[in-house]
Amino acid sequence: MTATSKNAEPSPKKIAIYGKGGIGKSTTASNVAAAMAVLGKRVMLVGCDPKQDSTMNLNHGVQMPSVLERIFERGAKGLRIEDVCIEGPGGIILVESGGPEPGVGCAGRGVMTALQALDELGVVKHFGIDVILYDVLGDVVCGGFAMPLRKGYAQEIYLVTSGELMALYAANNISKAIERLSATSPRLGLGGLILNGRSVKSEVEIVNEFAEQLHTRVVAHIPRDRLIQQCEARNSTVPFDEPDSALGRVYAGLATLMLENQDLRIPHPLSRRELLDVLAHHASVDGASDRLAEAAAS
Ligand code: ADP
Ligand code: MG
Repeated sequence: MTATSKNAEPSPKKIAIYGKGGIGKSTTASNVAAAMAVLGKRVMLVGCDPKQDSTMNLNHGVQMPSVLERIFERGAKGLRIEDVCIEGPGGIILVESGGPEPGVGCAGRGVMTALQALDELGVVKHFGIDVILYDVLGDVVCGGFAMPLRKGYAQEIYLVTSGELMALYAANNISKAIERLSATSPRLGLGGLILNGRSVKSEVEIVNEFAEQLHTRVVAHIPRDRLIQQCEARNSTVPFDEPDSALGRVYAGLATLMLENQDLRIPHPLSRRELLDVLAHHASVDGASDRLAEAAAS
């Protein structure tokens, strides 16, 4: 673990993982957090999804109380670090921002309130955090969910995607937000795409071509693997339970890359037509190309 001194307190690395709901953000974030902890880093995992399940695998399968719930109970002034932070395996500090009741209020704004509260509590200094991983819902890139990028909370962005249209669509949309916000946040950049496989035909080719057009690269290919669910069923993660498996090595490689990555870029988002063309190039079976051509023409 990296020690922090009062005089030369290093600023932690601030990484955000964005992607479509259900694509594997929390799975990726919790496994990468575990892999970084195995590498000796003091990691803080901050779930920024109203689903509030980012940290469950690292908290014995139990949903932890969110910062917003605690603020609601105690008021922002009465908040203590131990109310909102749990120390998980490998010394990983777990936090859930939480969100409002469905239909009431803006979830994104709730995320900002939670992140500001963490700042005011001084959790980074208190725990000597080396890396913060934000796990952020990416279906709706409303001002609220983009706010962590705008306010400098997260600087290095990774997009989790499969080769499916809706996942690529969400990744492309988030890229638009990164491109726009990079004008005012010079340290903000896209670190790359994480292909979390769905075993879709030509998936690797599709995502590689998408990455190239987006002006970024695929930094890891996590295959569809039952080991993930097996570890999840034991309320654990692959790097802690199965570090020597092929998948354990994939997560270790991704964690190392994220810790060292200097290649942050401003993405070039695709137009809707270009995105559909990427899929159409590779969808030569099942009539999929016809359907995509129809969609592109509409
Ligand atoms: P998100 O956080 O993007 O909403 P999750 O990480 O919760 O999505 O993933 C949804 C489910 O998909 C998880 O419960 C996990 O079991 C499964 N899953 C994710 N990635 C993989 C994978 N590479 N192989 C097998 N199952 C996976
Ligand atoms: Mg999630």
